[in-house]
Amino acid sequence: MAYVVTDECVGCKYTDCVDVCPVSCFHEGPDMLYINPEECIDCNACVSECPPEAIWADVDLPEDKFQWIEINGEMSNKYPVIHESRGTKGEPTEASAEPSSQPS
Ligand code: SF4
Ligand code: SF4
Repeated sequence: MAYVVTDECVGCKYTDCVDVCPVSCFHEGPDMLYINPEECIDCNACVSECPPEAIWADVDLPEDKFQWIEINGEMSNKYPVIHESRGTKGEPTEASAEPSSQPS
């Protein structure tokens, strides 16, 4: 089991989720975060820190979001770890200016 970030994260950038993760398993892509399934210890701490409710336990994912399990695995290998939230806690910061590479 692992936790999974889904499409509700796109453009969020609150990133408060990052600060509560004890194993730094969030990775930052151009327009959303991803969780490394090899590192996530299933502690559930990040779920309540995510205002858009983008984070799910993989076993609880609705069927139309199953693809995010594979996407998180792939993208967390591609993009770097984000160690700290950005900006003032609880307030969104500007989304990255990089072009989107969101897989469909
Ligand atoms: S709080 Fe949720 S939606 Fe925002 S960056 Fe973290 S995982 Fe993504
Ligand atoms: S469930 Fe725990 S270990 Fe997994 S991403 Fe969330 S805070 Fe990190």
